[in-house]
Amino acid sequence: MDTQWRQTTRIQHWLHQIFSGRCRFCAARCQYREICPGCLEDLPWITAACRHCGMPLASGADCCARCLSQPPAIDRTVALWAYCDGIDALIRAFKLNADLAAGRLLAELAREALARRGIRCIGPLLPMPLHPKRYRERGFNQSAMIAHWLGPTVMPGQVQRIVNTPSQRGLDAAARQTNLQSAFVLNQPPPRAITLIDDVLTTGASLHALAQTLRRGGTQWVEAIVLARAI
Ligand SMILES: [Zn+2]
Ligand SMILES: [Zn+2]
Repeated sequence: MDTQWRQTTRIQHWLHQIFSGRCRFCAARCQYREICPGCLEDLPWITAACRHCGMPLASGADCCARCLSQPPAIDRTVALWAYCDGIDALIRAFKLNADLAAGRLLAELAREALARRGIRCIGPLLPMPLHPKRYRERGFNQSAMIAHWLGPTVMPGQVQRIVNTPSQRGLDAAARQTNLQSAFVLNQPPPRAITLIDDVLTTGASLHALAQTLRRGGTQWVEAIVLARAI
């Protein structure tokens, strides 16, 4: 048993030597974190974007045509990266394979970028709630972990999700929206300003529905910070 234990330890040590301290994108040796300066710069950063939905805008305008014609329930969205070029793989590793180090790395990079740009969260952080069934399957809420790493003020249990996303399958766009309108229930009166936290913004329908629920409860300023956005 003792020999087996030592062998296991040696193997673990060897694996640690090989896989730690390397950039997750190019495998170059890194001293402090799992991304090298070159790959950090090459990430698909979103800098100029629509203030409401976070969609990248090359024109320099601060609002996209869609948000101009149909103002969303969210006052401001900050999406750090486009959901591509390795950011997608890192988020999937975090969310689907419980690679918490990947999630923590993304949250740290996001926190630094927000500070560098002088973006301050106006309200306490509210992570996008997971439906209890999804939570049981995954074992953790990725948005809650991101919010915890971004800190400092996180509101747990403010909102409950009572409609699971898979139940959206087979519904057309209008039916999806109606379904989502009743997806969230407030457990307590919400504060006047809230910063929603989510990992990926795809259609934005869930964030929009959550923002509408909060507004009905009395919130007047709803903003969202997401790691990545589909473009
Ligand atoms: Zn690299
Ligand atoms: Zn927009």
